[in-house]
Amino acid sequence: MLLRVASFPTKTLILLPFFCKSSNVLFVHSKRCIYLSRNYTSMTIIFNAQKQPKSLGSMARKTTHFSTTSAEALLQSSKNMGSRISRKKARRESPEMILRVKLDTCSKNGDLAEALHLYNEARANSVQLNVHHYNVLLYLCSPKSDNGEEDGEDSVRLDNGFQIFKQMRIDKVEPNEATFTNVSRLAAAKEDPKLAFDLVKQMKDHGIVPKLRSYGPALFGFCKKGMADEAYEVDSHMIDNGVLAEETELSALLRLSSEVKREGKVYEMMHRLRATVRQVSEETASTIEDWFRSKRAAEVGAEKWDVRKVKKGVLEGGGGWHGQGWLGKGTWTVMRTRMDETGVCQSCGDKLVCIDIDPEETENFAKSLAKLASEKEARTNFAKFQEWLQRHGPFDAVVDGANLGLANQHTFSFPQIMRVVNQLRQISPTKKFPLVVLHQSRVSGGPAQHPNNKKLLETWKRAGALYSTPQGSNDDWYWLYAAVSSKCLLVTNDEMRDHLFNLLGNSFFPRWKEKHQVRIKPSSNGLILHMPPPYSLVIQESERGSWHIPTVTGDDLETPRQWVCATRM
Ligand SMILES: [Zn+2]
Repeated sequence: MLLRVASFPTKTLILLPFFCKSSNVLFVHSKRCIYLSRNYTSMTIIFNAQKQPKSLGSMARKTTHFSTTSAEALLQSSKNMGSRISRKKARRESPEMILRVKLDTCSKNGDLAEALHLYNEARANSVQLNVHHYNVLLYLCSPKSDNGEEDGEDSVRLDNGFQIFKQMRIDKVEPNEATFTNVSRLAAAKEDPKLAFDLVKQMKDHGIVPKLRSYGPALFGFCKKGMADEAYEVDSHMIDNGVLAEETELSALLRLSSEVKREGKVYEMMHRLRATVRQVSEETASTIEDWFRSKRAAEVGAEKWDVRKVKKGVLEGGGGWHGQGWLGKGTWTVMRTRMDETGVCQSCGDKLVCIDIDPEETENFAKSLAKLASEKEARTNFAKFQEWLQRHGPFDAVVDGANLGLANQHTFSFPQIMRVVNQLRQISPTKKFPLVVLHQSRVSGGPAQHPNNKKLLETWKRAGALYSTPQGSNDDWYWLYAAVSSKCLLVTNDEMRDHLFNLLGNSFFPRWKEKHQVRIKPSSNGLILHMPPPYSLVIQESERGSWHIPTVTGDDLETPRQWVCATRM
């Protein structure tokens, strides 16, 4: 099973920022040329004024009197610079560049009519169009939305697009990935997924690696038309090219397979969703429910199966699934439900399992985390912290001090951190202090000056349980690395979804977080620690053939997570 992390931009308007950016670069570039040429002009005037005070006009004649090497070299370099500038000026004023700037403006304004006018004019004047010109035109001709709705105006628009692409081929202009993606979208809008797929196949002939977005028009086009074999062929092509299908693609394939009664493929998609997506969106959840409620789903499945083989499958798969196909027969009971705190399904009473994380995976993750942190933070600062951890760790828990000090209140509260620290000490088998990570500014100024808080900080420091991160650092790197490398609990209400955590990918970090994050919630009896669930928040297939599918609905302390329970017990 492929588990590569893939992140791709959304399918719409991908090219607009690119074109805007490139035209900005162009403007900056032009300004710089003007700046350089101005400076150069003033430099030559000074040079001539000093050496040739009588006449600026007689420069060419007079310069022959200069015999020093440096003067000649200077003159030579002046000439070179002059010719470079004139070359640049010529390029800037070339019909190709003028067309480019004008087309970029059309792209920014979404002005197809003007772009087509410019295109026809350029062709009439034999202006050589390059891939950039063609991509802007194709982008403007491609549909504004991916829903495939086409009105009269759009039909003309699409025809223009295909005509321009044809011309591009006649002109032998080498297409790039953006060209193919734009034309695939034209094909999808024409409801021609076969052409869209042909275009993806052609990308390889041009040495272009297709992206996830390249496949969308073909895959969704075939799915929409119910062309199952063709859709599976696109899927195989993606796998062969190392492109990992994400939830949208897997969900579309599952819906299609369910509609055309290909239960083996439905089963495959369920497992691929389990391995790569884990928790599904509302849309995917209802697609799955539709399958389980279908007539076909009631008919499929083995009535008798080899229990040992199923157990072996569970063992080899790491728990939570067996992969031996649909088990059982008869109508499925499909319910929306929740799990109790021990992981017992409130609908069917099955207990969910907890899937362990491979310690080696954690080691590798800690290493890559340290590498990233050293790149983002001052290297010496982070190296110092790693040394400090070696001396004082490992810990049973790490506390994100800034987050807890401010949790559910406006002013920073040391007593709140203290209560969490004390609770964590109580549950620690060795009664060890957890590590409190706080930014330097938090341990020196403000509330840290209060005598009680000073005392508290001193106690933690003496116990080797306080680390203050240096000025200018981002303490997130510190507490996260400390918790991962100590393989221990991490107390924070930070959902860890911002930019920094996005750098960590989707393959391991969500699983680690699920097993290690402790959240706190205030209650009338003080703060309550919400420990990680003792079961895994992932699609689970039981040894008796039942399925439990977690949704992303309700993913906080207030709302319990919603699950789909499908069983025929
Ligand atoms: Zn259940």
